[in-house]
Amino acid sequence: MPDAMELLRAQCAGCRNCPLGNTRTNLVFGVGSPTAKVLFVGEGPGEQEDLQGEPFVGKSGQLLDKYLSLIDLDRGGSKIYIANIVKCRPPHNRDPQPEESEACMPWLRQQVRLLRPRIIVCLGRIAAQRLISPDFRVTREHGQFREKGGIWLMGTFHPAALLRNTAQKKDALADFQALRDKMAQLNLLDEI
Ligand code: SF4
Repeated sequence: MPDAMELLRAQCAGCRNCPLGNTRTNLVFGVGSPTAKVLFVGEGPGEQEDLQGEPFVGKSGQLLDKYLSLIDLDRGGSKIYIANIVKCRPPHNRDPQPEESEACMPWLRQQVRLLRPRIIVCLGRIAAQRLISPDFRVTREHGQFREKGGIWLMGTFHPAALLRNTAQKKDALADFQALRDKMAQLNLLDEI
């Protein structure tokens, strides 16, 4: 029997609540464990993600996987789930428009309701400004945890930005190490 997240994915597959639904190749709903307590949220699918139907599978995805592996996490494991603010690719990899993000947020809210994550890591400005604070500045506030409604939120660099600006990779690694420390503090490392 499909779990609740798979049922939600099936419902989302028919979504045309914003114009991005008309231009996508595939829905990019999310990937990971339905029991994950750490949720990563990016801004939206790129070209490869749109073609394959999975978030973070291009070059930036390879970099994300590398950072995950450095703190003993992986997208196939039990501890994490990866999603985006918008589930369909914005044309030419532009930023999602505010109204597109707004239209898509109910799907993410339902994913959060099902997962009940203890930690949400925002990958990049768009996700951090939507989920943490509208004036979030990644360069200034990355790696800092703040608690909202029982969930610890942290923003860090989008992997695609790290590919463009390699000088920030050291800071990003420190953020992932801070994530590992927060998971240990919340006893999330031993849970299934
Ligand atoms: S981006 Fe979100 S709201 Fe827009 S069509 Fe896709 S699933 Fe629906």
